[in-house]
Amino acid sequence: MKNAVYPGSFDPMTLGHLDVIERAAKMFDTLTVSVLNNKAKSPLFSVEERVNILQEATAHLDNVKVDSFSGLLIDYCKKLGVHVVIRGLRAITDFEYELQVAQTNRKLSNGDVDTLFLTTSLEYAYLSSSSVKEIACFGGDIRQCVPAFLVQKVYDKFGITAFKQEQQNT
Ligand code: ADP
Repeated sequence: MKNAVYPGSFDPMTLGHLDVIERAAKMFDTLTVSVLNNKAKSPLFSVEERVNILQEATAHLDNVKVDSFSGLLIDYCKKLGVHVVIRGLRAITDFEYELQVAQTNRKLSNGDVDTLFLTTSLEYAYLSSSSVKEIACFGGDIRQCVPAFLVQKVYDKFGITAFKQEQQNT
């Protein structure tokens, strides 16, 4: 069995993440998308909310599981018996950080955990969770950024209902 883990904050998940998930799911027998419970960050969505959102967004993919973890990624991989980590690359700015993390994980795991990078589809190259939050907090249109069922959930976090009403009237 070829299995992989796609870890991340997913706060919130975007269509860019979903694109990576769909492509990675075709390459592996099972793909575990796992929300990092990072106590240092104060997230918009709780870990449980992010897990539920990812489950809903990936319901059409039979070989995708959603989970969460805290602590070292290599310990989590060991627990699952997984040797491949998926990460997405959007721009050269992602590369330096991702390269360092991938090399650290390979070193710490004594070569047991490798990282596989998928380059972003061009239409999502500009997308990030932080830009979604920034647009949404001012009531901007995020319909091109996140799955349809998630749009209002993001606005709700900022107490924005106007966009919903506008949508309903069109
Ligand atoms: P983290 O906080 O771990 O970087 P993110 O949720 O921001 O978590 O991202 C998880 C992974 O998804 C990272 O590898 C990131 O580069 C990738 N990613 C984020 N946005 C996109 C996108 N628009 N296209 C492709 N990959 C992306």
